[in-house]
Amino acid sequence: MTDSIASDKTTMTLPGTLHYFPAPTTQAFCSQCGNPLSRLVPPEDNRERDVCNHCGAVHYRNPLIVVGTVPIWNDQVLLCRRAIEPRYGKWTLPAGFMELAETTAQGALRETDEEAGADVTLGSLFTVLDVPRVNQVHMYFLATVNSERLDPGPESLEARFFNLDEIPWEELSFRTVFHTLQAYLQSRASGRFATHYHSIE
Ligand code: ZN
Repeated sequence: MTDSIASDKTTMTLPGTLHYFPAPTTQAFCSQCGNPLSRLVPPEDNRERDVCNHCGAVHYRNPLIVVGTVPIWNDQVLLCRRAIEPRYGKWTLPAGFMELAETTAQGALRETDEEAGADVTLGSLFTVLDVPRVNQVHMYFLATVNSERLDPGPESLEARFFNLDEIPWEELSFRTVFHTLQAYLQSRASGRFATHYHSIE
């Protein structure tokens, strides 16, 4: 994930408790002029938005995209143990929020490098998972690990390879990780690696 507030170089003061999850879906003040916002349906629209009565800015909120990989090395899968909330200490596939001005593939590679320090070659898109409860879409690419050497970043407590029959199912971070690993095992058994789409309610 890219919420690296605890590890970055800023000296700004933060409140004692940070709320990472779920992200706020409404906002109180205009991001353009700072005046208070009103919750209303703009003309020609069909749902409520936060609208500025002062400058007219309409603040749209849309789902966030999480991108990641299923990194495979000699029939083992690379997992990272999270050093950040939410789900501190749980195992995850390398993944995080897509940044502006990058492609989904670039984001998946970047997150794999940031969280595991792994050198991988990206394969095809493997899972597309809607998570409407938290306004997110998660997308995982298959990936081949090119070197056993790992260098986990500050968002990971550790990174290591797991045999496919040793995946820590009870200690996984998110249902999207669970679904993606299940889909991988099914695909490997059938030899057909089609793209899986699933909606997690
Ligand atoms: Zn405004």
